[in-house]
Amino acid sequence: MSTLVIRGGTVVLPTGQRPADIAVENGVISAFGSEVRDQGEIIDATGLVVLPGLVDAHVHFNEPGRADWEGWEAGTRGAAAGGVTTVLEMPLNAHPPTTTAAAFDEKVAVASQKALVDFGLWGGMVPDNLGDLEALHQRGVVGFKAFMSHSGIDDFPRVPDGVLAIGLKVAARLNTIVGVHAESQEMIETGGGPHPVAWCRARPAAAEVDAIRRLLVCMRGAKGVRAHVVHVSCAEGLAQVDAARRKGVSITAETCPHYLAFTEDDFERIGPALKCAPPIRDEATREALWNEVLGGRVDLIGSDHSPCPAADKQKGEHDIWQAWGGIAGIQATLPVLMTDGVLARGLSFERVAHLTATAPAQLFGLYPRKGAIAVGADADFAIVDPNTRWTFDAHELQTRSGVSAYLGREFTGKVARTLVRGRTVFVDGEVTGKPGWGRLVKPNHAN
Ligand SMILES: [Zn+2]
Repeated sequence: MSTLVIRGGTVVLPTGQRPADIAVENGVISAFGSEVRDQGEIIDATGLVVLPGLVDAHVHFNEPGRADWEGWEAGTRGAAAGGVTTVLEMPLNAHPPTTTAAAFDEKVAVASQKALVDFGLWGGMVPDNLGDLEALHQRGVVGFKAFMSHSGIDDFPRVPDGVLAIGLKVAARLNTIVGVHAESQEMIETGGGPHPVAWCRARPAAAEVDAIRRLLVCMRGAKGVRAHVVHVSCAEGLAQVDAARRKGVSITAETCPHYLAFTEDDFERIGPALKCAPPIRDEATREALWNEVLGGRVDLIGSDHSPCPAADKQKGEHDIWQAWGGIAGIQATLPVLMTDGVLARGLSFERVAHLTATAPAQLFGLYPRKGAIAVGADADFAIVDPNTRWTFDAHELQTRSGVSAYLGREFTGKVARTLVRGRTVFVDGEVTGKPGWGRLVKPNHAN
């Protein structure tokens, strides 16, 4: 039996923060507070904050098929360094995309060999695979991802509204959730000037708002369906989600650290590393988004970690349209939330834990095994030093391409140690986890 004790940390619980010791046996939290006796390995967490390990509900690791873009090992090394103990990986950018049960099996096989942290898989919803959704659901996907605009990759076509409406009905029958990339293709310009700002102007916030409205119309015919809007970049989009929710519609929304950390001015300065869709917005939009986070109208925060080979970013140096759109940010979620949230705007660590761990675990059926510090839960922790000031240097970056918009950024608050089911996978700046430790997690219905 493997045992360990985490001593002296400030533990972030759903009910608040308190100093407490935690005991772990065989990868599961076995005792808490005054119940804890010294046993096995002792981890001194004095002066540190113990958060539930992050459940990052939005990553793209591109393997099998495009492992040169990132791959499960590099991606989960980044996860470990970022305090992320479970990733929910998207169906697109790998080849084959996860739109059939066979593709699911293929991805599980490679991820099981290479992942350092636990993982769940999204299935894809594309125009020609509605007949595959049930088999994917039986395999244990955490939900289905669909695009209302072009995804940027040929083997993952967008769903017209009519197909989405039918797909939502299938999802309702299966009692699963549909994650939607909500931008209206009809409102997006597909070309423009060479500078980053042209990319921003081509994809206005209004295109997000319009797509969310159309999604809500599509949901009307699928009674009881749950939809989740991924990477909302603007308060106007969140207002649509919130208004529908107040009327009883089962809809939730995610935002990402890059929309909270950067503005269009940063995009002009940094260039293609910050290209993504929806695009980085202006200062006023970012501040309004922070207000939504602080006001509790954002359900969860995921990284949308989506790297590519360095050359596919460099192509856009002189013409932003030529660059791949996607941000390598899996290591940045906690530093951004600690620096720009906790320190700068009074966000609480309880909210950080909720937005990054508890809420995604609940939404995707992994709770209470994942997403909370409680006896009986998996011993997944992100132990952070909230006071360390540091600069994100290239040697800290795990992503394969070496490209990140965060390089050179200064943060206050750093991940000190990450544990996955009781095993330390990252400590003192070093990834110590081993490929093959990560396990597939399935929503509660599939176990
Ligand atoms: Zn994505």
